[in-house]
Amino acid sequence: MASEEHKLRVAVLGCTGSIGTQTLDVCRQHADRLDVVALSAHSRTAELVQTARDYGVACVAVTDERHASDPVLQELPAGTELLRGHEALAEIVQRADVDCVLNAVVGAAGLEASYATLKAGKRLALANKESLVVGGELLMPMATHDQMLPVDSEHSAIFQCLVGERANRVHAIWLTCSGGPFFGRSAAELESVTVADALRHPNWAMGPKITVDSATLMNKGLERIEAMHLFGVGIDQIPVLIQRESTIHSMVEFVDGSVIAQLGASDMRIPIQYALSYPERWDTPCDRVDFRALGSLTMTAPDPVAFRCLALAERAGREGGTVPCVLNAANEIAVGAFLAGSCSFTDIARVVEATLDAHDRSEVESLEQLKQIDAWARSCAQDQLSRLVLHA
Ligand code: NDP
Ligand code: MG
Repeated sequence: MASEEHKLRVAVLGCTGSIGTQTLDVCRQHADRLDVVALSAHSRTAELVQTARDYGVACVAVTDERHASDPVLQELPAGTELLRGHEALAEIVQRADVDCVLNAVVGAAGLEASYATLKAGKRLALANKESLVVGGELLMPMATHDQMLPVDSEHSAIFQCLVGERANRVHAIWLTCSGGPFFGRSAAELESVTVADALRHPNWAMGPKITVDSATLMNKGLERIEAMHLFGVGIDQIPVLIQRESTIHSMVEFVDGSVIAQLGASDMRIPIQYALSYPERWDTPCDRVDFRALGSLTMTAPDPVAFRCLALAERAGREGGTVPCVLNAANEIAVGAFLAGSCSFTDIARVVEATLDAHDRSEVESLEQLKQIDAWARSCAQDQLSRLVLHA
C-alpha cells in the first residue's frame, strides 16, 4: 500500500452527479492511491453530507445559494470546512491539500473551476467538456504538457491512441458516437419524441443534460469542438462515426494509413481512472469485454439533416471565437426548456440556430467577456423560446 504522502489528493467537483459518483467509486476502489479531500455539489446536499462522511473530506462546497443553508449541512463531520456559492469552486481548487481536480460539473458553470485549476498548476481531470467548448481558446495555452487529462470517453481514447505519437502525423480523428436513442429517425419523426424517449439512452447512464445532448447529437458536436482544442486539429479532420455498440471509443488515423483505436467496456470509470492514474495503468474498476461474445461492430455515417444540432455545432466550431460559447449557452437553455416540457425536441435546434444567427462573432479575450456573452446568449435563447411558444 502506498504511504499517505504518495496518494493523489483529489477534489471532486460535481460529486453528486453521474461522473461524480463514478469518480468516487474509482477512488474507493483505489483508496491506497487516491485520497478524496474536497467535494462540491450544487443542490443535492443530503448526498453531499453522506459522501463527506464516507470519505472524511476536509472541505465541501455548496454552489447553489438556495441550498447553502439546508439543515442537513449541520450533520457534516466536525472539522469539515463548508464553502458556499459559485466562487467556492475556484477556492477549492487552490487549496494546498488538493493535487488534482476532477471537474464533473455540468455546463458552462464548470469553466471557471477549470481555469482556476490550470492557473494553480494542478492536474485537471476534465469531464466538463463545456469548459473547452466555451473557453478552449483561453484554457489550452494555459495547460502545460499532460496537465489536462480528458475524462470524456472519446477524448480519453484519442489521448491514449496518441501516446508516443507526433500530433503532426495525424490524418484524421474518427470520433465515435452511439447514434443515441433516435438513430435512423427522420427529421419529421423527431418532431413528436418525448422527454422520456430522449432520456432512454441505449448504452450509457448519464445526467439528464448530456443524455438529451446525446439524443440530439449536440453532444457529438460539442465533442468535435472539444477535440479541436485538445488535439490541435481542424474540424474537418474530425469525422463522426456512428458505432452503435459504443465499444470503439474513438480512433486515430495517421498519415501512413495506420489506424489506432481504443476499445473497452462502455463504463465511464475506465476513462475517469485513466485521468487519475496517468501515466500509470491500474487494475480495471469494472468488467472486461469478452470480444468472442461481441458478435459484430456496426459503423455508419451520421445524418446531419435529421440531427441538425450536429450541423450547428460544426458551424460554431468552424467560426470559432465566441460562437461556440453562444452555441453552448443557447443549447443549455433549450435543453432545460425541453426537459421542463416547455418546448419540443426539435425546438432545441431552432432555438440554438436563431441565437447563433443573432450573434456577432468576436475573438475570445477573457473569462469576463465569455461570462457576458454566455449571459447574453441565455437571454436571447429565452426570447427565441418565448417566440416559439407564441407561434405554437
Ligand atoms: P449530472 O447532471 O449527473 O451531474 C452534474 C453535477 O454538477 C452534479 O453534481 C450537480 O450538483 C452539479 N451542478 C449542476 N449545476 C451546477 C452549477 N450551476 N454549478 C456547479 N455545479 C453544478 O451530469 P454528468 O455527471 O452526467 O455530467 C457532468 C459533466 O461530465 C458534463 O459536462 C458532461 O458533459 C460530462 N460528461 C458526462 C458523461 C457521463 O457519462 N455522465 C460522459 C462524458 C462527459 P447537484 O446534483 O448537487 O445539483
Ligand atoms: Mg463522450
